[in-house]
Amino acid sequence: MPGDPEVGLLRETGLFPACKSRPAAKEFLPKELVSSGVVRRLGGFFLFNPFTLLRELFGFPELSVSLVMKPSLFDSHMHTPLCGHAQGELSDYADEACRKGLDGIIFTCHTPLPDGMSAEVRMKAEELPEYVDRVAQCRAEFKGRCDVRLGLEVDFVPGYESALEKIIESQPFDYIIGSVHPHLPEIRDAFWKEDPIAYGKTYFDLQARAAETGLFDTIAHPDVLKIVRWADYDKALMKEEFARFLDRVAETGVCLECNTSGLIRKVQEIHPAPDLLPMIAERGIPVVIGSDAHDPLRVGDGFREGVEALAEAGFKELLVFTERQSQSVPLDSWKALVADWSYCLQNEAPASLHGG
Ligand code: ZN
Ligand code: FE
Ligand code: FE
Ligand code: ZN
Repeated sequence: MPGDPEVGLLRETGLFPACKSRPAAKEFLPKELVSSGVVRRLGGFFLFNPFTLLRELFGFPELSVSLVMKPSLFDSHMHTPLCGHAQGELSDYADEACRKGLDGIIFTCHTPLPDGMSAEVRMKAEELPEYVDRVAQCRAEFKGRCDVRLGLEVDFVPGYESALEKIIESQPFDYIIGSVHPHLPEIRDAFWKEDPIAYGKTYFDLQARAAETGLFDTIAHPDVLKIVRWADYDKALMKEEFARFLDRVAETGVCLECNTSGLIRKVQEIHPAPDLLPMIAERGIPVVIGSDAHDPLRVGDGFREGVEALAEAGFKELLVFTERQSQSVPLDSWKALVADWSYCLQNEAPASLHGG
């Protein structure tokens, strides 16, 4: 497969002549390595991470997963049944990722919040270790097939910064999303003043403040406000607020999310809306893509639409986080994967205004 980035990278290393042709590789590589997924076949080539291979063959410690296995096509936002409003087992999400050819997934379930805030749509504080265990089990189960990672979607609530920081530091998270969910009753009660424009300003200000805390890698679904009050969502005015928000985010180095869950909402468009994407590109703010799946079928859902919109807006890469470190993935690799995907259109669930 000429032009394939993985093959290209492997060739560039020049270290593994035996993987260049199929017959030589067949003799060189024990069959079990191929069947266990340590070595993958792609066209006439064998692909492997040399560090994984060394570990499997000689028990060497794994030094780096990302060096040769680039690019890493991840769905970086999905939930688990622990939040009380997502369906399916964790393994179902990973299975779907394998089926779609994704390299990995990051579970980013809703964080516990202090004072029992919106307790009905999130795990309890005492369930956090169980969440971490379940993700670790899933990671072990899918080793070599799908890189399952541990993340968290953290509601930014002013005044809770230090409590949130404690939660974030309590576990070895790969990726932390910061969210403002303007439809949470507690947020509405605190900030809604019978004026949708003022509420919009507050919403974008809260998101900027979230980025400025430095607690989060990415700000989730940065125009999710539109699903709450779509009828009186003033696109033109909110675009101005969005620009102000972006100027502040650009100062922080925090990423924004291309969240494809809006496609299954009434608004039927990604977050942020496609016409907002060039404003992000202009400012050089990096983007991470996530489906916000609350159902295994939605893993990777809408990524074709998202990737196309990002390409049109001028993006050349996406970021993915593991161990809180970002890695760049060429948008062209994404385009090749999702070219013939269609999205699984689900009806808006009646109880879904918890905010994705
Ligand atoms: Zn969400
Ligand atoms: Fe979510
Ligand atoms: Fe969310
Ligand atoms: Zn949710």
